[in-house]
Amino acid sequence: MTTHPYADDAMSFKETNPFESMMSRFDEAARLINLDPNIYKILRSPSREITVYIPTFMDDGRIEVFTGYRVQHSFVRGPAKGGIRYAPDVSLDEVRALAAWMTWKCAVVNVPFGGAKGGIVCDPQKMSIGELERMTRRYTAELLDFLGPEKDVPAPDMNTNEQVMAWIMDTFSMHARHTVTAVVTGKPIEIGGSRGRREATGRGILFVTNEACKKFNMDISKTRVVVQGSGNVGGIGAQLMQKEGYKIIAISEIKGGIYNPNGIDVNDALEYLKQNKTYEGYKEADFITNAELLELECDVLVPAATENQITSANADKIKCKILSEGANGPTTAAADQILYDKGIYVIPDILANAGGVTVSYFEWVQDRMGFFWREDEVNSRLKDTMVESFWSVNRYAEKHGVNMRIAAYMLAIDRVAYDLKLRGIYA
Ligand code: GLU
Repeated sequence: MTTHPYADDAMSFKETNPFESMMSRFDEAARLINLDPNIYKILRSPSREITVYIPTFMDDGRIEVFTGYRVQHSFVRGPAKGGIRYAPDVSLDEVRALAAWMTWKCAVVNVPFGGAKGGIVCDPQKMSIGELERMTRRYTAELLDFLGPEKDVPAPDMNTNEQVMAWIMDTFSMHARHTVTAVVTGKPIEIGGSRGRREATGRGILFVTNEACKKFNMDISKTRVVVQGSGNVGGIGAQLMQKEGYKIIAISEIKGGIYNPNGIDVNDALEYLKQNKTYEGYKEADFITNAELLELECDVLVPAATENQITSANADKIKCKILSEGANGPTTAAADQILYDKGIYVIPDILANAGGVTVSYFEWVQDRMGFFWREDEVNSRLKDTMVESFWSVNRYAEKHGVNMRIAAYMLAIDRVAYDLKLRGIYA
């Protein structure tokens, strides 16, 4: 694997470097669409990268200085858009990759946003609510000049939630001297959030998986699903898929998962997880590791946890027919080819998990109108977007004889490049 000027040295040459994962697909898709070399040069680097140091009063009176990032990859199609994650292993390379993925994701579902991502290196599990609030507010204050409904609109991602979005909205509003709800999405409904936003990513996965099942004439009631992850994406996705009639045979969280070939009652299992903070000891199913879970024989596998779960080390042991990527970057570029050779149909992350940002777009629109939609309106517009995007990518894949991942990148890059050309290059 090659090294790139924007990849951290220490992480170069690694299959699991998310920036490499993103860039190798980008390069391949760019080559296949004969991307103009000047546009290629512009799109392969982010527009702006911001690093901030965040002094935060800890509960014991000490000050801790956290490192935070916001990478704004593109503004070509609209304000930059993307989540903020809190985790001990957040790195600039990861945030860079995730920011570019947001650009491609927004273009795949054709919402008028660019792409961005943020992150703070911290361990939210070890922080009190007060510490999290102070850190979030100071991070927002450091980024004031760069955020705004027309500039860059954050949202939740790993370990951030509606409460964190409320603090960002409030901090930004205090400095603006008026309430600016449209500066973030994924807020609580009471203060400008959208109905259906919380479930949107999981619901989007359901919609695209339904279409894939139609494509292969699969009967949903006989379709066995394995879900990695029990959070906002995996947990809600599993609940919605079960309600639709799919048979969920395994589900996991970070410490491990549960498996029952006859099916799991997802609501009951999630309730157990909430009470016990682990699936261990759950009587209705066997406890298994995450590695075992990924290799179970099933029809649909939904990796909805984190990056680099399917790599060249385990790709040939994956036994699903359809891989619906709930997480961002769960599969490495090296694993793509192995899955393709095995005939596994991959619904790539930038399509499969785009339901979240689609409803974020609806939230931003509603905030700017000051007029809020019914939940069924949100869900039916989301369905239209996901179904249409699925078939657009599928058509692209068939027309160009490429897999769904490369087709999604080709479609996205094509759209961004076209718009960039129309605007003209200010160079
Ligand atoms: N963090 C989510 C994602 O990766 C949502 C982003 C958004 O709504 O802006 O797609």
